[in-house]
Amino acid sequence: MTPAGLRGPELTVDLGAVAHNTRLFRTRTDATVMAVVKADGFGHGAAAVAGKALANGAARLGVTTIQEALSLRAAGIDAPVLSWLNHPGADFARALAEGVELAVPSVSHLDAVLRAADATRQTPRLHLHLDCGMSRDGCEPREWPRLVGRVVRSHRAGRVEVVGVMGHLGCADDPADPCNSAAAARFDEAVTEVRRHGLDPRLLHLAATAATLTLPSTHHSMVRIGAGLVGIDPSGTTSLRGGLTLRAPLVAVRRVEAGDAVGYGHTWRATRPTRLGLLPLGYADGLPRLASGRAEVLVRGVRRPLVGRISMDQAVVDLGDVAVGPGEVATLFGPGDRGEPTVGDWAGWAETIPHEIVTGIGSRVARVAAAADLRRAG
Ligand SMILES: *Cc1c(COP(=O)(O)O)cnc(C)c1O
Repeated sequence: MTPAGLRGPELTVDLGAVAHNTRLFRTRTDATVMAVVKADGFGHGAAAVAGKALANGAARLGVTTIQEALSLRAAGIDAPVLSWLNHPGADFARALAEGVELAVPSVSHLDAVLRAADATRQTPRLHLHLDCGMSRDGCEPREWPRLVGRVVRSHRAGRVEVVGVMGHLGCADDPADPCNSAAAARFDEAVTEVRRHGLDPRLLHLAATAATLTLPSTHHSMVRIGAGLVGIDPSGTTSLRGGLTLRAPLVAVRRVEAGDAVGYGHTWRATRPTRLGLLPLGYADGLPRLASGRAEVLVRGVRRPLVGRISMDQAVVDLGDVAVGPGEVATLFGPGDRGEPTVGDWAGWAETIPHEIVTGIGSRVARVAAAADLRRAG
């Protein structure tokens, strides 16, 4: 029997963190809070995060694809949901039938949605989606007048309801970057254009986590919070609570001598006799290979280094003098309050951002809800 009774690698999701973070964002803005639960709620479970956020002050949900929106509906969630990234051939009819609001980034998307509306006798609830300078999703500014013109005609014909205008900021993690004011100005012009035609959409939304924390002028009537819900603050200004703990039991422990090598390429060799622990987790489970030779884990309250290359399915920890045996549970990351590495530490070791770590945990890792009594107070 293992100390914590772990059968294998386990990702504990503490939804109390999501509740805490959602309430914090509510104190930072008067705008409506949309909880963005794309990519399975940033790896925390989309329906679970959605439910927690809605119970703590979020009023709406946002996802990337229609499929993600339909999964929320299938989980019994009937709050307003917006889906903003679909190709013109996506299943808009299903989306409309399930009451999913749609972002419209082009005339061809609008045409596809109108066809689905005719087929299903639904009135689409639309958010006009502007590219504010990232040259990524959203309507190119030079196409905006044509898109708005077509939407206005459809609106006058009673075929669509225009619920919102949305944009996105590409540099909000640095509030001083001039890219933010340029994007905000583009957004304002686009909204002016919409209003000039007599439309007055209730939801104007531009800010995500970072801008909500650092650029109050961008809040408009709604903010879209994803990373912040799960404890990630790209602006580095605010202390949010992380909700994930990744742990795994040691499969084996062995003694090696000075000179013995570890892993593919023999990139690490013991410089003295030591004990190595084998962890049944690798890059297929979300441990970035780039963190090889840099990452640490917590064993019996002590930080110990991973040594050698992280493989697809396994990684090796140099236990040194920590006298533990197989079954001992190592903590790969957690909130950080017991000395364990954090998601942010892993992001640093892997030269990436925390978002990539939390959304990258593989499907072999068991997900479990944190027991309420394990939650930290306050
Ligand atoms: C992912 C995403 C968000 C959420 O951004 P965070 O920085 O994670 O809060 C908001 N809006 C759009 C369009 C997104 O794609």
